[in-house]
Amino acid sequence: HIRPASRMTGLPAQFFAALVQKANAQAAKGRDVINLGQGNPDRPTPPHIVAALQEAAPNPLYHKYPPFSGFSFLKEAVAQRYKEDYGVELDPATEVAVLFGGKTGLVEISQCLLDPGDVCLVPDPGYPDYWSGVALAGGVMEYMPLKESNGFLPDYGAISAETANKAKLMFINYPNNPTGATAGPDFYAQTVNFAAKNGIVVASDFAYGAIGFDGNAPVSFLQTPGAKEVGVEFYTLSKTYNMAGWRVGFALGNKEIVSLINLIQDHYYCSLFGGIQAAAAVALTGPQQCVTELTAAYESRRNALFAAMNEIGWESQKPSGSFFCWLPVPKGHTSASFADYVLEHADVVVAPGIGFGTHGEGYVRLGLLASEERLQEAIHRIGKLHLFG
Ligand code: PLP
Repeated sequence: HIRPASRMTGLPAQFFAALVQKANAQAAKGRDVINLGQGNPDRPTPPHIVAALQEAAPNPLYHKYPPFSGFSFLKEAVAQRYKEDYGVELDPATEVAVLFGGKTGLVEISQCLLDPGDVCLVPDPGYPDYWSGVALAGGVMEYMPLKESNGFLPDYGAISAETANKAKLMFINYPNNPTGATAGPDFYAQTVNFAAKNGIVVASDFAYGAIGFDGNAPVSFLQTPGAKEVGVEFYTLSKTYNMAGWRVGFALGNKEIVSLINLIQDHYYCSLFGGIQAAAAVALTGPQQCVTELTAAYESRRNALFAAMNEIGWESQKPSGSFFCWLPVPKGHTSASFADYVLEHADVVVAPGIGFGTHGEGYVRLGLLASEERLQEAIHRIGKLHLFG
């Protein structure tokens, strides 16, 4: 007779689990499935980072419990990267928390700041982990619609004064999952103003902070004057260095929030394996050519995909960052019916937009996580279904 705590009943099943199951069932029929539904980088970690782990692993220093809040050298390494890439100064001792991937921090920040009933502003469509964190804390979500007509940015003017006043926390995420939109300094300045005026903490999810296209490097929230007073940024090595399996992330910025996150983490974990921390520091301070190459590869894949879409009459805006394409579904389909249809008839897995929120309806998300040839083949297979044009 297991009686789960009430906080568990508000927690939805992991959205991608169902998608993986459907894709596996199709593959089990012996079909050649092209899976563009998930966000798992398809290429390995650069060899110099793997070699750094091999070198570090035998060191007995790393076989003991690591320092609770992570090794100083790793915090210094991420501060150095932020200075070089974004011109942002961070004090490694007080403005950096080491996380088990960005995901843990995104969930923990709600537990650090929300009491049951407290309001949190979340983007819709948005990355589902924000909701899980709010649900676990017993918070209440108010959705900020991201509309194509507004470049998939939230419109702070459309949030009622009452809601803005009640909100304690808000999530923003650019380059954006799932829309592929990016944000510039003006948007971040508006965000800092809105947050400061209403006493809201900003959680900026910068998971795709290295992936910007057409010569435009992504802008960090922390580059905005006043950003550190109102919030933190979550940064991760998962996408920048193809290190999703290594689980290395950071919370950066506001000292009080960094210390709250460190405190909650001290009770859950005792920081990452030291060898992983050593290799992560090498990723951040070593040659960055691998990052330039990775971004260029995603851009070529994007261009190849859109060339194929053009051939079959599937029209859409190109993403300006992240590795996701947010594409409209054809007439007569919902996002879920289209995703099921192309899996069944074209053996292509796409993520239905509805999984990212009600404003995700009408779109599907495709990850640029296969070779150019496979991406083009996926589109050509969909083209044979004659749904567009
Ligand atoms: N934020 C966004 C928007 C993501 O898409 C992801 C991963 O898919 C994450 C955060 C979490 O990244 P990680 O926990 O691997 O650092």
